[in-house]
Amino acid sequence: MSESAPIPLDPAPASASAGWRLQHTYAQLPRAFHVSIAPTPVRAPRLVLLNRPLAEFLGLSAGELAGDDGAALFAGNRLPPGASPLAQAYAGHQYGHFTTLGDGRAILLGEQITPRGERFDIQLKGSGPTPFSRRGDGRAALGPMLREYVISEAMHALGVPTTRSLAVAATGEDVWRPEAQPGAVLTRVAASHIRVGTFEWAAAQGDDAALRALTDYTLRRHYPGLIGADNPALALLDAVIERQAALIAQWMQVGFVHGVMNTDNMALSGETIDYGPCAFMDIYDPATVFSSIDRHGRYAYGNQPRIAQWNLARLAEALLPLLHPDEKASVELANAAVQRFAGRFQHHSLAGMRRKLGLFTEEAGDVALIETLLAWMHEVKADFTNTFAALSQTAPVANAQFADAKFLEWHERWQARLGRESKSPAEALQLRRAHNPAFIPRNHLVEAALAAAQQGDLTVMERLLDILSAPYAHERNAPEYRLPAPGGAAAYQTFCGT
Ligand code: AMP
Ligand code: MG
Repeated sequence: MSESAPIPLDPAPASASAGWRLQHTYAQLPRAFHVSIAPTPVRAPRLVLLNRPLAEFLGLSAGELAGDDGAALFAGNRLPPGASPLAQAYAGHQYGHFTTLGDGRAILLGEQITPRGERFDIQLKGSGPTPFSRRGDGRAALGPMLREYVISEAMHALGVPTTRSLAVAATGEDVWRPEAQPGAVLTRVAASHIRVGTFEWAAAQGDDAALRALTDYTLRRHYPGLIGADNPALALLDAVIERQAALIAQWMQVGFVHGVMNTDNMALSGETIDYGPCAFMDIYDPATVFSSIDRHGRYAYGNQPRIAQWNLARLAEALLPLLHPDEKASVELANAAVQRFAGRFQHHSLAGMRRKLGLFTEEAGDVALIETLLAWMHEVKADFTNTFAALSQTAPVANAQFADAKFLEWHERWQARLGRESKSPAEALQLRRAHNPAFIPRNHLVEAALAAAQQGDLTVMERLLDILSAPYAHERNAPEYRLPAPGGAAAYQTFCGT
């Protein structure tokens, strides 16, 4: 190009494409399901975190998104090309009570088509008010958005189905929670944001055509193999029950407590969604609760399967008009489907626990073997993660806790059981190491990273994210990331109203 070549007029900004390929299939659902609404621009957008590997996976140029253009985009000040922003309508049971909700502080920009042809919602969370905001400000605070970023990415690395986090942008504005806190917008990536509450909303409209449209859409988007089933609504219900049974079992195998399993926070895709007052259990106790407002332990660690089934019963109820033309027959089909949850959960739970113990085969005594270990862990207040990590070491761990007679007796039974496996001890060890994490987002580590980030120091957060990106790296020498909270630390509490 010669020096005198004319500079093109009005050049498109470098980020004009950045790899965006947005589609809008959800917007084709009946009007009751969405409202067009744009994000509200903020005063001073600043990119705090950008998930480069996720950007590349989505077909987006991390390089182009890392600068001011990315900050403007992830704060909601500039729309990506092809965006068609909307808020989704939904309802839900919150702590057992039905209520209409909708995206009060989230806006769907569209569905990004990845280079592999997969479809993911791109949603801004904390991007300003919508017609569903009621008395809320439509905003989010930096701390909770960073927290969702860390925990959701940790869950992904652990192998648990989850929504993911593409970016956190600070807004340069304060939010009141109830004191002033820096505001931020999280960019969430999800297989979809269709919730049990979306179906409850459809059912509450009393419009069977809308309910059928949502059912067909959900099948096409998440369960294409079931299109054309004899009874599509029942096929969907069964498939969702199966995915939720698997999901809750996976949560529990890594010690995860969701904390607010309202029906609006249960996704039809089977992904973990809406990280609020969630946390990882350290000391094993089925009664573990972190949420400050969950006084009765409704969403306690050990109660999660029961609540999942309760939520799925709400999904079944919403689907009643489609299950069978005869109401009584519909109720029977719904009940039978929901009853199947318990067996499916047991199946996934047992299969997962066998893997955690390095067992490839099944024996009738395995349930007792697992229960004996858990009972001992409960009794001696053992750290959930570190106990299983210790059982995954190449050499026996010298630890006073394991010198306990009850543990030694259990250990002997376990060793005998392992001896009846046809696979080699090396393979059994490999299986354990792939299912017992060495690193989880321990509460005190997450808090320290958030505190530093609030002061403008992101190095603590970046190091934590790096550790959590490889949770099964047992050989990694980072003992400070394995320790439970320092002794005497007050019981950890998490807060809603984020
Ligand atoms: P969540 O606790 O994030 O599951 O949200 C429950 C409901 O409250 C959803 O309808 C949210 O959109 C709404 N909500 C939460 N925070 C706000 C806020 N700051 N402004 C408006 N709506 C909100
Ligand atoms: Mg929610």
